[in-house]
Amino acid sequence: MVRQSLIEDLGKIIKKEQIMLNEPMSAHTTFRVGGPAELLVQPKLEELADLTAFFKERNLPYTVIGNGSNLLVSDNGIKGAVIELGRAASEIRVEGTRIYAEAGAMLSKTASTAASFGLTGMEFASGIPGTIGGAVVMNAGAYGGEMSRIIKEVTVLTPEGTKKKLSPSELKFGYRSSCIAENHYIVMSAVLELEKGDRDEIAAYMEELKKRRVEKQPLEYPSAGSTFKRPEGYFAGKLIMDAGLRGYSIGGAAVSEKHCGFVINKGGATASEIAALMEHIRNVVKERFEVTLEAEVRKLGEFK
Ligand SMILES: Cc1cc2nc3c(=O)[nH]c(=O)nc-3n(C[C@H](O)[C@H](O)[C@H](O)COP(=O)(O)OP(=O)(O)OC[C@H]3O[C@@H](n4cnc5c(N)ncnc54)[C@H](O)[C@@H]3O)c2cc1C
Repeated sequence: MVRQSLIEDLGKIIKKEQIMLNEPMSAHTTFRVGGPAELLVQPKLEELADLTAFFKERNLPYTVIGNGSNLLVSDNGIKGAVIELGRAASEIRVEGTRIYAEAGAMLSKTASTAASFGLTGMEFASGIPGTIGGAVVMNAGAYGGEMSRIIKEVTVLTPEGTKKKLSPSELKFGYRSSCIAENHYIVMSAVLELEKGDRDEIAAYMEELKKRRVEKQPLEYPSAGSTFKRPEGYFAGKLIMDAGLRGYSIGGAAVSEKHCGFVINKGGATASEIAALMEHIRNVVKERFEVTLEAEVRKLGEFK
């Protein structure tokens, strides 16, 4: 239980409007599911170090999230604090061919800023509904592009509370992974290195990618994007379709008919139903094709 006295003290670090109690995580995830976070805070970047030091001092566990577009939060919610790096930490600055973006900046906004400055290389990310922080953690990618190819440097806050700059090789990027989670770092900001390009060509390419997403992906339903990682030599969506699971549902959770790689919230789904459907998909695909699907979506909170 988060005590009132803790909230009072917290108010000395960040403004009251940036502190929420028993905040439903369904309002902070693109799946639109998840029980309450005991405490949710939306700090500015300069408040982050004091905030994490405060939580440590009080033995309050904390979890960092961005736009919640790759998360499945338990129906029982999250114990402790959720630090949401979003709008309050979303400055974007352009210097020549480099873009400095705070962790909470949306990829879409960063990509459109790049485009408006005639900078190419980030078009692939314009339709990914995450933040810079989440995209660094996940090494987000699409249409042949990947964050690892445009990152010049990332500033993180270490668990010891110090700021550290990491080069691309130190970030140990892999397929939808980086070293951030295993080291319990918090992404504070990133410097992206892009190239000079033609404004019209950049805009046209972004428009084309948007069209492809609208055509292929069930954007009309809440989801967390591709539910599973691409298994080596296969496509998760095709395996799920070939396993006869197109449209298969458990409660309000369903395999999208439009793109079987997406588990969607058809309406009123719970996190348990989504988790149960993911488990069912994994079992059926394993049985039929001897392929083990690994979740791309990250679970937060307790699941049975
Ligand atoms: C419709 C749709 C389409 C999508 N398409 C794509 C796609 O094409 N390619 C792709 O790669 N992904 C895609 N995704 C998934 C998702 O958008 C990406 O993984 C995105 O990078 C997640 O960013 P986020 O800010 O939402 O992170 P969250 O979902 O909030 O968090 C993801 C992980 O990062 C951690 N985290 C977040 N911010 C920080 C931070 N600042 N410091 C430390 N840890 C942090 C969280 O704890 C969590 O483990 C899609 C999702 C949806 C809903």
